[in-house]
Amino acid sequence: MTERSLTERKKDFDENYKRILDQIGEAALRSGRKPEEITLLAATKTVPVELINHGVAQGLTQIGENRVQELLDKYEALDRSRCGVQFIGQLQTNKVKYLTGRVDCIQSLDSVKLAREISRLAEKAGAVMDVLVEVNVGREENKGGIDPDGLYEFIDEVRRLPGLAVRGLMAIPPICSRREEAKRYFFRMAQYYVDIKGKSMDNVSMECLSMGMSSDFPEAVECGANLVRIGSSLFGPRAYRRPVEQGGNTVWQG
Ligand SMILES: *Cc1c(COP(=O)(O)O)cnc(C)c1O
Repeated sequence: MTERSLTERKKDFDENYKRILDQIGEAALRSGRKPEEITLLAATKTVPVELINHGVAQGLTQIGENRVQELLDKYEALDRSRCGVQFIGQLQTNKVKYLTGRVDCIQSLDSVKLAREISRLAEKAGAVMDVLVEVNVGREENKGGIDPDGLYEFIDEVRRLPGLAVRGLMAIPPICSRREEAKRYFFRMAQYYVDIKGKSMDNVSMECLSMGMSSDFPEAVECGANLVRIGSSLFGPRAYRRPVEQGGNTVWQG
């Protein structure tokens, strides 16, 4: 793959952005909602800040980063005047300190230990951190997220922490070969979301159902998502750096 220049990538973005907004809008209407009820969050891992800021200038209102170090590297240069920053990757307890005061929401809350640390640091800063509870909707081993069987108990425990506010649910369903398969998981998530909303627990407001990525976001919206997290369809394929052999030497490409 030949590398595309930043100028080309900006042009690609403009086309992709328009197309994706149209697709989100159509899926919203199919599910009986208005297009503006769905938030597009741009998943910006590996995307250079210049390209992200171009996206913000075109209208992006939310971005999500996956890795704490990458977030810190980009943070100062990000145009945050018009765009919210969220954290969407797996988070270790000892890294929470880098996120408080920097991100508007942590979408990947998946343990009581993590919740306690988020609450502790937010409280210390005189703030309250919005969080989404990540659900391991496919009950996959080695995957982040709360097991659906323990979801209510988990929420009932963490909602008592003073420094965080539970705002919704997030899921990354198992990789499905057919789009229709993914819908099973999205429907399940929508059920949890509505059930919890119906319980009206203090300090829990189900406002955000975050699910759907490049490969399946129209299905997610049809099933009730009101925030989709899209990376590669917006910014182009991610070029991860990888070692290659070149004349007996190892060089890093990407
Ligand atoms: C990378 C990422 C996305 C977006 O994935 P694409 O398939 O590139 O759209 C969404 N959510 C999370 C948590 C991610 O890490």
